[in-house]
Formats: sequence, structure tokens, C-alpha cells
Amino acid sequence: MCRVCQKRPEIPEERHGRCEACARAGRIAYRFRLASARGGPGLAVRAGEMSPRALRQKLREQLAAWNQPPGTRRQLGLHEVELVVARDRLETVRGAPDLAGRPDEVMEALRTAAERTEAAW
Ligand SMILES: [Zn+2]
Repeated sequence: MCRVCQKRPEIPEERHGRCEACARAGRIAYRFRLASARGGPGLAVRAGEMSPRALRQKLREQLAAWNQPPGTRRQLGLHEVELVVARDRLETVRGAPDLAGRPDEVMEALRTAAERTEAAW
């Protein structure tokens, strides 16, 4: 199943696991894994399919301006968050069901991660 829309079958061997419609639209779903923040309450990004530096370059301002709570996606694993980007425009923020009650902490974790400048998590 397409990783982005979960509606249509993915193209075999497609780099981002997408269906034809999502590939044509330039839509990509990047996954991130959150964990409890070190030495305090809240959450922090621990791993992701986009480097901290790329996240900063591409999505820092868009995450800062994002004003909706993250959606919930059943298919995501524990503490996973997904950012759907269509040709560099942030379209969707969605998280695993276990994060559904923590919308502010999820957004804070993503925004904090987008301040980082490292090449790797
Ligand atoms: Zn799709």
C-alpha cells in the first residue's frame, strides 16, 4: 500500500513507497521517531528519514507557522510521526495513535528538531 495515502498500491521498487498519483504529485512521507526528551518532560526527535539539517532547511519556517494539531495515523509504529511534503510544501503532520493525546508535545519536538544543524540524529 502507498506509504503516503494508504489508498492505492505502491509502484514496485519506488524509492519512497508511493503510488502513481502521489509520485506524480511529488508527495513524500518522511517518518520520524520520537522519544521522551532527555532530562525533562516532553518529547524529542530521536531518528528520522530526513537529517536535522535538511529538516531545518526545508521545513523550519513551515513547522513554526503550522497551527493544526497533528492527525492520527493507525499505520504508524509507537512514537512515530510522519510529515507529508508535496514539492517542498508541508501538507500534513500526523502521528501514531499513542501520540494522539500529546499534540503540543509532538509539534514542540518537531520544531525543536528543526532548529538543529547536524547532519545526523
Ligand atoms: Zn499514494
